[in-house]
Amino acid sequence: MSQPATASILEVRNVRKTYRLGRVKVPVLHGVDLTVGHKEWITILGASGSGKSTLMHLIGGLDRPDKYPEQPASIVYGDRVITDMGPKGLNHYRSTEVGFVFQFYHLLPELDIMQNICVGSMIRYGRFAYGKHRKDVEKRAKELLDRFGLSDRMRHRPAELSGGERQRVAIARALINEPALLLADEPTGNLDLKTGESILDVLAELQSDAGLTMVMVTHDERIAARADRTIRLIDGRVEEQSASMTP
Ligand code: ADP
Ligand code: MG
Repeated sequence: MSQPATASILEVRNVRKTYRLGRVKVPVLHGVDLTVGHKEWITILGASGSGKSTLMHLIGGLDRPDKYPEQPASIVYGDRVITDMGPKGLNHYRSTEVGFVFQFYHLLPELDIMQNICVGSMIRYGRFAYGKHRKDVEKRAKELLDRFGLSDRMRHRPAELSGGERQRVAIARALINEPALLLADEPTGNLDLKTGESILDVLAELQSDAGLTMVMVTHDERIAARADRTIRLIDGRVEEQSASMTP
């Protein structure tokens, strides 16, 4: 477990989200407030459908909160107001500051492991500028694969790997651009207990060694217990904060 957080890196204020499917409105988040400390590991617990993934997408700049001029929502990362950014700013934020890890890995089946990991850097630099960075990116990808015990699988495709190995590849992909914030949405949800534990070990080590700030979603209390702090999403709000932040 890491040191107690010092200053905040992420401030979520009054975030609401309603999905609209034709005339049907699906209200999901009803005013979420959340502060995440620099280098803190927080876990978000909540029942299925409570809006955990929705909140992660908003924090990661993949979607936008509802706009209510009288009660403005804001998501602030460091000194940057994510909720005020245009598409270009959001792209930059996503590709330089944030790493995503998903329950079902979302690796590209046609690409080998090395290519899957480097794809985030291709997006970051763009097709032409990537050439200039390629050597460094591939070196970093190899280091990550070494670290995760996968260096002999570089040229394999995702289908040739186990679930735990695929998730390690997905974590390497999330880290290729050296983000400061890692968002992991049920990263062990598709794995057996032992494999899930080994993935958590990897994440815990990254958080303490690389100084990552980590926001992780789970519905497993045992997993949540490993984080510095747990919050609970109930009825679209943060209902409870169990802090283990006191030094
Ligand atoms: P969780 O991750 O906690 O299981 P989600 O954030 O995925 O919950 O979903 C919360 C609610 O929002 C669910 O009722 C879900 O059906 C609905 N929802 C999620 N994404 C969409 C979408 N793109 N369009 C419409 N409804 C959605
Ligand atoms: Mg979800």
